[in-house]
This record gives sequence, structure tokens and C-alpha cells, in this order.
Amino acid sequence: MCGIVGYIGASQAAPILLDGLGKLEYRGYDSAGIAVFDGEEIQLKKATGRLKVLSELTHDGATMPGTAGIGHTRWATHGSPSDTNAHPHCSKGNGIAVVHNGIIENYLKVKKKLTNKGYEFLSETDTEVIAHLLDYYYKGDPLEAIIKVLHRVEGSYALGIMFKDHPDQIYAVRKDSPLIVGKGEEGNLIASDVPAVLKYTRDVYFIQNEEIALLTREHITFFNMDCEEIAKESVTIEWDINAAEKGGYEHFMLKEMYEQPATVRDTLNPRLKKGKIVIEELGMTPEEIQNIRKIHIVACGSAYHTGVTAKYVFEGMARIPVEVDLASEFRYRNPILEEWDLVLIISQSGETADSLAALREAKSRGVKTLGIVNVVGSSIAREADKVMYTWAGPEIAVATTKAYSAQLIAQYLLAIHFAQVRGTITEKEAGSLLNDLKRLPDQIELLLANKGKIQKFANRYIAARDVFFIGRGVDYAISLEGSLKLKEISYIHSEAYAAGELKHGTISLIEEGTLVAAVATQEDLYKKTISNILEVRTRGAFVLAVTNEGNTEIEKAADYVIYLPQTSSYFTNSLAIIPLQLFSYYVAVGRGCDVDKPRNLAKSVTVE
Ligand code: GLU
Repeated sequence: MCGIVGYIGASQAAPILLDGLGKLEYRGYDSAGIAVFDGEEIQLKKATGRLKVLSELTHDGATMPGTAGIGHTRWATHGSPSDTNAHPHCSKGNGIAVVHNGIIENYLKVKKKLTNKGYEFLSETDTEVIAHLLDYYYKGDPLEAIIKVLHRVEGSYALGIMFKDHPDQIYAVRKDSPLIVGKGEEGNLIASDVPAVLKYTRDVYFIQNEEIALLTREHITFFNMDCEEIAKESVTIEWDINAAEKGGYEHFMLKEMYEQPATVRDTLNPRLKKGKIVIEELGMTPEEIQNIRKIHIVACGSAYHTGVTAKYVFEGMARIPVEVDLASEFRYRNPILEEWDLVLIISQSGETADSLAALREAKSRGVKTLGIVNVVGSSIAREADKVMYTWAGPEIAVATTKAYSAQLIAQYLLAIHFAQVRGTITEKEAGSLLNDLKRLPDQIELLLANKGKIQKFANRYIAARDVFFIGRGVDYAISLEGSLKLKEISYIHSEAYAAGELKHGTISLIEEGTLVAAVATQEDLYKKTISNILEVRTRGAFVLAVTNEGNTEIEKAADYVIYLPQTSSYFTNSLAIIPLQLFSYYVAVGRGCDVDKPRNLAKSVTVE
């Protein structure tokens, strides 16, 4: 959460910091601040609210001259969003300035100690202890002070640090929160994520836990916690810079929805060779696949929902038992993991704090782990035994769309592959499943092209108070995701239920006109879901049904029907999600919500 940017070079720092923060605003956005060394002092400007408040306050950075600085957009964890709590935080007299992403868990203890030593705290944040603790340990050598501080603090952090006494240097360090270093022609940068530096460089270093980077205008040097210099290789970022821009779309979310056909192709095609599935990165022998006893899918939010879908797919196709867990529960519930289990950790950013902790828990028990991750070089990608990338490119909108779709595809591929190896499907069945997979991108395109119909329907529901999503089997999984999409961006209360479960309590909430979105793509369950539709309709609900082409029977039960092209019953989520995404999007736009940056949310949840 939060975005960090730092720059030291030949150009003016403040405009570069503001520009970089703009690219990271999706990470956190309740306040922002920058610190720039003006030749004599470290100058500070902070502002509550969106980044544009800070940009206006500093005339796009023009009022803060200087060629070295650090900046931050905050997603508050300790202390309300306010000018005082916004970062950077400084030691007395602005001798040291710090920006921080993460949580210092033992900050109260450290704060007490420092207060006893006469340090005065201005903010309610955990971060401020770092600035004062650095001052406490600083005896002229910044590196030594930083290392001492890191030995004292517990928790997660990515830090950008400046010392007034060393105006030609910026320091960066991380533990469990993301941070990268960019090597530019005109200067060097630090940032929480790659899009912030792409305008200036494509040469990027991924800092590992407890590595410290020292940036000067010309050089970048890395140290370990023993103060020894270490060698690191840079990586060249291949994406097009436009991938991180809106490219004519009104919102990133809309653009990313439209990128889904390409994303599905990019996740699929490299793993199809001569009509066969080849997942080289899996690194499992046929014997190992035969021996899998159980799959644990561990994730958060929408990634968790893809796991709920995948449970039906893995169990149905490959007959392997699957447990799907929320990472925040898995990590603390002492899960039963055995030798032949496989743990799938799914995360777009690869930095999700709970998922990372769950991965470490699984690894510590000696179980094989596979990360399904979008961001190359991220923590989960590095730490999992094996990693399968979803080639979705940068996803900027907080509400996931294309990464979600890519995660589904990755799991379908694994399921078919496992089923083939274990002999639970025939070659003919596998061939037909692959054909269906290959048709998905065009079918998604078709559904996207139909957006006008959904937009019209959505406009009728911008004043809705409650919405319910129901479905059976994988349609239950898609209901979970449809409901989350709607509530996270439109702030309309919504809930998802297994269609057969609604009558066990929640049906009491159905009133005249309540919208119920019923997903019915499982042919063997049509009749059951239609009964559930009738149950809510008799109680006044207005029913939007999403079903397969040809299931016209449903028109008798539902008020409005959206038809999906034909595909395997295992893959219908990849199609059903499109109208549900579009519906949420247009409802949110109609309500005037900030679609790309919904309130209280952050893209990459790097705190637990
Ligand atoms: N814990 C810090 C704060 O509340 C940093 C939060 C963040 O990562 O933005 O200020």
C-alpha cells in the first residue's frame, strides 16, 4: 500500500517525484508528501487528499527546487489521514527525512524509549519512530545508523531515506514491502513499483529483503546488513510504457477489461505447444503429478475467488481434492499439510502480505509451492518453489479484471494438464477442452462489444441499495467475484450466495424491486437455479439472469437475460465475469464513484 518515489540526478526532483507518485497513486491515496534538498536544507510539503492537492500546492513541483528528493502517497495504517501524519517524517530540524511503506510493529515500545530520551513526536504514525531512531544512532555514517535501526525495528517496511549532511545520497531498504531501484541516464530512482520509473529508465534492480541501496547521481551501490557491498544484476523491463497509461479510455478499469482477450491469449499461448499443454515452469514429473494428494489454493480477494472456481475445475477434471483458503486464515490456522500436497499461492502483485506469509508457512513445512503471479520478480515469484506467470501486464485499476481472468486461465491449464497425466480425462476430452480455451478470447471480445446493453441496464440500478448474486457450482464462484466487483467500486451493498443457500436466512432481505443477479451456466443445474430464481421473484426481486445461449427457458423466470457463447461448463466463469464487470463499472460510473481508486482500498495489500 502507499507509493514511494525517490530521485537523485541532474534534473529538478519535485516534478519527477510528483509524476512518479501519480503512477503509484493506485497503491494508496489519502495524503501525499515530498521532501527535496534545496542546496541547504531538506524542504517538506505535505497535503491531505489526492496527489493533485500537493501538485497544486507546489505548482507541480516548481516551488520546491532541488535535484534530490523523496516522495510518498499514503494509505494510513497508524493515525488518520492528515497533513501531520502524511509522509515524509523527519528528525528534529529536518536533519533526516523518511518515507515508509508498511507497519513498524514494535513502534510503541521504540517510541516510549525515544520519548524518555527527549525525542518529540509530531505525528501518530508508526513511521516517525524511524526518523528519530535514525537520528539517535546517527554519528556521521548513514549506513551504520540505518543498519542499527533495522536491527531494532520489527514489522514490514520499504524505506526511502535522506540525510541533510549527505545531500548527494539517497538510501533505500526493504523488508516484506516492495521497492525497486531504477538506473537512469540523467539520474537514479527508487520506487514501490516499476510504472513510476518507466518514463526515465527500463533498467531496474529488484531489492531483496534487508538489502540496502545507496543512490548517488551517478552510481548505485548495494549493501547487506553486515555493511558489505554486494553485487546485483539489473533487469530490463520489456513492457511498453503505454501499458501503464490510460490510452484513451476513461478509466484504467475499462481499459483493462478490454485487454482481457489479449491477456487470456498471452497466458494461454506460451503454454500450448503443438496442441499440447506444456507448463515448463511447473517442473513436476508425471510421477509427482500422479502422487498429488491434495491441492491447497491460498489467496486473498479476487484471487481467492479464482481459487473457488478452480476447486470445482481441479476436482471435477483431475479428481484431486482441493481446499481453498483465505491467506489471512491459512497462515494462522496451523493447516494440515502433508508430503504430497501442492500449495498454490495466487496474487496479482506477488506482494500480498498475507499470501506471502502463507507461502512461507507452507515452505517451512516442506510442502511444494507454486506461485501464480503477475508481477515479474515480486516477492512471491521469487520465494515460491516454482512460479507460473499470468502475462497480464501492469494492472493499475484497484479492482482487478484482467489479472483475475489470467489467473483463471492459469488454473484451467494446470487442471487439464493434471487430468491428462492422471488419466482422468481422455485425449479427446482434453482436445475439446483446449479448443474451448482457445476460443475464449474471441468470445470475451464479443461480450465486451455488447457493452451498450449492459450499460443501459446498469443505469437503471445506480440507486440500488442491495444487490444479491446467486449461482451453483462455478456459478457460485463467479457470484462471489461479481458481488465483490460491484461493492468495491460502487459502494452498493451486495452479497453472494450459493443459490441453494439463500433461503436459509438471507432471503428475508429480498424486498420489492431488490436486484438479484442469477448466474446459470451449468446445464445439469439449470432447473435447480430456476427454482431459486422463482423463490426470490415471488418475493418481489427483479432478476437479471446470466446464462448460456440456448437456455431460453430461463426467460420465463427472469426479468432480464444476458446470454453467453457456448464453452465447456468448466470455463463459463471466464465469460460470465464480463457482463458482471461491465455492470459494476457502469453502475459505479453512474454514481460518480472514483472507479480506479475506490475509497479505503489499495491495489497491492502489503500489510496484514
Ligand atoms: N504505517 C505507515 C503509516 O500509517 C505507512 C502506511 C503506508 O504504507 O502508506 O503512515
